[in-house]
Amino acid sequence: MKDKKIFVTRSLMPSYEEYIDAIKPLWDSHWLTNMGRYHQELEEKLKRYLDVPQLSLMVNGHMALELTIQAMSFPEGAEVITTPFTFVSTTHAIVRNHLRPVFCDVKPEDGTIDESKIENLITECTVAILPVHVYGNICNVEKIQEIANKYNLKVIYDAAHAFGVTYKEKGIGSYGDASVFSFHATKVFNTIEGGAAAFSDHFMYDKLHDLKNFGIRGEELVTDVGANAKLNEFCAIMGLCNLKHITNAIFCRKMLCEEYEKQLKDVPGIRMFKKKANVDSNYGYFPILVEKEYPLERNMLYERLKEAEIYTRKYFYPLTSDQSCFGNQFGKADLKNARELAENVLVLPLYETLTMQEIEKSVEIIKKMRV
Ligand SMILES: *Cc1c(COP(=O)(O)O)cnc(C)c1O
Repeated sequence: MKDKKIFVTRSLMPSYEEYIDAIKPLWDSHWLTNMGRYHQELEEKLKRYLDVPQLSLMVNGHMALELTIQAMSFPEGAEVITTPFTFVSTTHAIVRNHLRPVFCDVKPEDGTIDESKIENLITECTVAILPVHVYGNICNVEKIQEIANKYNLKVIYDAAHAFGVTYKEKGIGSYGDASVFSFHATKVFNTIEGGAAAFSDHFMYDKLHDLKNFGIRGEELVTDVGANAKLNEFCAIMGLCNLKHITNAIFCRKMLCEEYEKQLKDVPGIRMFKKKANVDSNYGYFPILVEKEYPLERNMLYERLKEAEIYTRKYFYPLTSDQSCFGNQFGKADLKNARELAENVLVLPLYETLTMQEIEKSVEIIKKMRV
């Protein structure tokens, strides 16, 4: 067995030669950014791969989320119903748009927003719902759309974890008004840093095109207070290379997840999230829940694994609603389930080149723990 550190993730990369070959043309064109040839090519290819009507590439997932919200022109101070069991980017994107996050509890079985609790949180100030397909677990998109239609709200999904996931044979990014993906180095598919917004409205494409380029509409015309969120050509080429290997990478992840599942399913106190029917997963993460019947608390297990140089992550702890940057500005409804998940969750190492022996090593430690 190899004796080395096992990290929670490892970035997908093409071979060195493949990437070097692919970037060569940039030394002829000297076109490095500003929606160049590779930006366009990647946008087209991802639109097809993700099976979404429209797609706008961005410099990262966070800016894709922030600009998608901006593109919807909500009145300042309006309320957005969201989940606290996520990466802080989700909440930041709302707050940085001068909107108020209203935190809704999640479901214990999969960590996604509890759709039965959304309606109670709707006020005359509510303008949108921003749920997260956390770990690639798919929200109840049908029920959420029903609520949105009834109250005339926008639905924006944080699909940062859901690259390539399909539900009922449709790309997950085709649900709701918009979905945002992240292509950060730690995600299933990466462009080093990168992201995209998917949507169906034609107007959105032009709007986001301007917003990611300072709001510039024409050579002498700036119509929006935009940002700079353009993906450069080196990153776009990294994406084009990685896209060639993504099917294989997801297949490897699937095999590894099945091994973890097989080995952990009968360990008392270790629970796994429930799988939803009609979902084709991307096997992006392998979260476990360390519950009462387990002899150790989650934090202790985290430490024991770390002692063996196995680096897991407490994704997502603490809840974003509890982060000090928000102080007590935003109300916290009953977030009992979210709190419990945040206390219990541990994401185990998972990436396409992880070996069965490395899984064995983690599992052995998890299985033999005594107080
Ligand atoms: C990674 C992530 C983001 C942000 O994406 P970046 O590409 O890192 O900016 C947003 N939301 C969630 C849930 C994420 O995991």
